[in-house]
This record gives sequence, structure tokens and C-alpha cells, in this order.
Amino acid sequence: MNRQRHFDAIIAGSGVAGLYCALQFPAEKRILVLCKDAMSVSNTDLAQGGVAAVLNTQNDSFALHKEDTLIAGHRENDEHAVDILVREGPDDVRRLYTEFGVEFDKQPDGSLNATLEGGHSRRRIVHHKDSTGHEIATRLCAAVTARPNITVAEHTLLYRLDRIDGGFFAHVLTADGAAVYAAPYVVLATGGIGQVYRYTTNAPIATGDGIRLAWEMGCRIAHLDYVQFHPSSFAGGDPHTRQRFLISEAVRGEGARLLNGKGERFMHLYDDRLELAPRDVVAKSIMLESRRQADEHFYLDIAYKGADFLKNRFPMIYEKCLQAGVDMTKQPIPIFPCHHYLMGGIAVNENAKTDLDRLYAAGECACTGVHGKNRLASNSLLEGLVFGRRAAQDILRHSAGERFDPPPLPAPDDLSGAPLPAGLADTVNDVMQRAAFVLPDLGAVREGLKTVDRMIARLKSGHFALSKDYVETLSLATVAHIILKELQAK
Ligand SMILES: Cc1cc2nc3c(=O)[nH]c(=O)nc-3n(C[C@H](O)[C@H](O)[C@H](O)COP(=O)(O)OP(=O)(O)OC[C@H]3O[C@@H](n4cnc5c(N)ncnc54)[C@H](O)[C@@H]3O)c2cc1C
Repeated sequence: MNRQRHFDAIIAGSGVAGLYCALQFPAEKRILVLCKDAMSVSNTDLAQGGVAAVLNTQNDSFALHKEDTLIAGHRENDEHAVDILVREGPDDVRRLYTEFGVEFDKQPDGSLNATLEGGHSRRRIVHHKDSTGHEIATRLCAAVTARPNITVAEHTLLYRLDRIDGGFFAHVLTADGAAVYAAPYVVLATGGIGQVYRYTTNAPIATGDGIRLAWEMGCRIAHLDYVQFHPSSFAGGDPHTRQRFLISEAVRGEGARLLNGKGERFMHLYDDRLELAPRDVVAKSIMLESRRQADEHFYLDIAYKGADFLKNRFPMIYEKCLQAGVDMTKQPIPIFPCHHYLMGGIAVNENAKTDLDRLYAAGECACTGVHGKNRLASNSLLEGLVFGRRAAQDILRHSAGERFDPPPLPAPDDLSGAPLPAGLADTVNDVMQRAAFVLPDLGAVREGLKTVDRMIARLKSGHFALSKDYVETLSLATVAHIILKELQAK
């Protein structure tokens, strides 16, 4: 990376929200994109099912997409934010294929092949086979890399933001030690919190760092207990595997049947929409059925659709199941719920601005209110696009004619200190599994809160070495604290 230390904006995160935000800035704006791992490591890269957008108004409408979003969100959504999402989203999705070369699957006649997912009343999910996120991430990474005005700092972890007159000092950890950058605007696009839980579909980067930073700076954090558990993560193979791969919603959308351990369908006992009920309903139904049967074995059966269809429609899921010894074209896939997505986050307005002047948040770390209590499948890539773009547009509006004269950069922090004790992150995972997995346990919430509060106090007063492990453990414990507090208050 070059030696430049002052930028027009710093964006923390190279997922869909951070990359698409960076691409909105004109050539004369110097943008720094920070990513704590390689640029390609993100939840965005893992997304399978697709992006929801009304691209064809013959059989669909913004009103229907909005209504589906509100039903899934238990009508706790911010309706104005949902309007923005469903009305502006289609243009952002079109830009993905017209400007950035994203290849969505097409019908033989050349039109886009939109599919159905749980909770959607129309086929409006555009996708690239079953690896839509990888396709989008790859194209956006290439576009960002080709822009001379955007500097990407890989393996560079943002751990503190100091407010200064007219902007921020951003303190980062790199392989060579600590460093400091300055900018008048910062966008947090640091993604989700999956690593707080024992089992998650999320990438290892999902430790809630941006949420912790915003919390420490006094920003409002909204609905952090609105966590989505995906009903169907792969439960075959090694039961101790932490990062579980997802059996996409689209598998149910294409007609898969949910079976209990006796091989019986059971969704009719819990919801009239059966397998196409929104994912929170399906995840809770599985947990209730699990209690009824005193059994944790569950399956998704789609073998009846035939090998040709399944290998073509779900090539990645087919391969991954096969590697783990399950042939989905011949047998049901073992599944169980696991942590998947965060609806809450750093509270932002319709332009992705936090309560703090010049600080923005977009993507999974932010709470725009579009998802309400439960996200409708395939609305989150869309949210990252729409509100990542809006953050950049708001910054451009406000920075017009502005001049940023930061004080001299401070010396980077001293990293030395005591080594971090092993096992702290596991303790957070254990607490959250007991207290806050799908159906919360209020007794375990009270106990868990004491444990994580003791841990936070120890982390803050223990004079530990400033390392990636230290920063991420502090983020995990802080996020757990906020979630447990919210649950306790209910
Ligand atoms: C398995 C899976 C399947 C999914 N399928 C779909 C789907 O089909 N459709 C859909 O709409 N959504 C889907 N989602 C959800 C969706 O992928 C995510 O919500 C979305 O991609 C989040 O994008 P983001 O830009 O907010 O964060 P991410 O894509 O997670 O990117 C976060 C970025 O922040 C960086 N970062 C984090 N902390 C720091 C720090 N301290 N310093 C510097 N950088 C930092 C990371 O390195 C990374 O670059 C899926 C998610 C998963 C896990």
C-alpha cells in the first residue's frame, strides 16, 4: 500500500455495502477501503440464493415486494426505509449487470431467470446459480481494484476511531503494527456478528467490530436482539464444525419438503404456508417440533426433482453435500437451524447516517429498519447496495466545497502487553448458545450477562497486547452484552 494517510472518506469493509459505496465516488475523491482479511473474505462472498428486486412489473409490483417484506418483518419495519429499498433497489441491481458485469442466470429467451424464495409472493430473486454472492463480490472487487482513486488496505483492522475537528483519526492494525489514517467521513460496513454464536453460516470476519466501535462512540444501537436463525444449515458431516454451510432458502423455494427424524412432514402443525413460511417461522417450528419429538434430526428432501435439475440449479450445494457424504439427488439432506443474520445494528437514517456527525453505517452492521423483526430472504444484498450508495451520495452532498485540514497524525499506539488468555471467545459462544439460540432462555440470559460483563471488565483493565484476537474478543463480548441486555429488558 502507498504511504498516503489522508483520504476523503474511509470505508471499513469490502462486502457488498462497502464496495458499492466506494464505487459511487468520482475520480477526484480519494477513498480508502479497509478490510481486516483478504478483500474477498466476507459474508457477501458466501451469499447463495440471490438478490430480491422487482425488475419486471408485469406480474409483480413494488407494493407486493413491500408487503412481503412487512409480513416477514412482523410489521416492525420502517415503512419509509422499505419504500426506498423496493423502489430504488431495482436500478442498483440493474447496474450490477449493466455496469459491473455481474452475470445473473437467464432463461433460454435471454430474460433474467428470477426464482422464488420463502416469504416472497412472486418470483423476483435474481441469482447466479447458487453462488450469487461470490459472483457479485468478484465483480465489485475487480471494479474497485481498477479505480485509481480507491486504495484497498487488506489485512488492516480498524480498532478505534477518534473524533477530531471535521473528521476522524482511524486507528488500524496491520501485519507491520499499528497505523493511523485521517478522513472527514467514515463509513462502517463491517458486516454481521455470526462469530458470537457457536454455530453460524457467517464468515470468520463477522465479529461485530463496527457495532462495538459505534457503541463505544455513543451511537445508538437498535434491536441487536433481532437475530435471524436460518432454518436449514447443513447438519451432516462433523457435528463440531463451527462454520456451517447453508442449504439455501431457494431449495425450499424449489419444492423441498421438511421432514422430522421419523421422516414425516410437520410444517402443517405450525404454519399454513408450510415450507414457504418465512425463515424465522420455519426455524421456530423446527425447534418446537424438536421439543415435541425430543429429537434433533431434521431433513430437507428434494431428491424427487431429479439429478439433472438439482445439479444444474444447486451445483455448489450438491458438491458440498456430496463431499460430506450426502447425495441430495438420492437422499434427504440433514439440516438444523443456526445463526445466520442480524436485523438490528447501528441505528442510521434513510441516508445511512448514524447519530454522530460524519459517521455512516451500511450493510449488515447497520439498522435501517428495512427488515423489521425478521429479514425477508434476499433483501440484505439489496439493502447493502441501496444504503451503501445512499451513504456515498450523502457524503458527496455534504462535502461539496468543504476543506479538511486535520491536525498532525498522532503516533500509532503501542501494541505491547500481556498475552490474551485462551478460550474467551468460546465462553461467549457458550453463553449465547444457552441464552439466546432461536427460543431465548431468560434464566440463562441473566447468568450469561454476568459472565460477559466480567469478561469485558477484565479485557479493558488487563493491559493485554493489542492484537486482532484482543480486538475481536472485545467486540464479541460487547455484542453479546448488548444482545443479552435487550433480551433481559423484554
Ligand atoms: C451463507 C450466507 C448466505 C447468504 N445468502 C444471502 C442471499 O442469498 N441473499 C441475500 O440478500 N443475503 C444473503 N446473505 C446475507 C448477506 O450475504 C449479507 O448480509 C451481506 O452480504 C452483508 O454485506 P456487508 O457488506 O454488510 O458485510 P460483509 O459482506 O460481511 O463484509 C464485511 C466486511 O467488513 C470487513 N471488516 C469487518 N470488521 C472489520 C474491521 N474491524 N476492520 C476492517 N474491516 C473489517 C470484513 O473484512 C469484510 O470485508 C447470506 C449470508 C450468508 C452468511
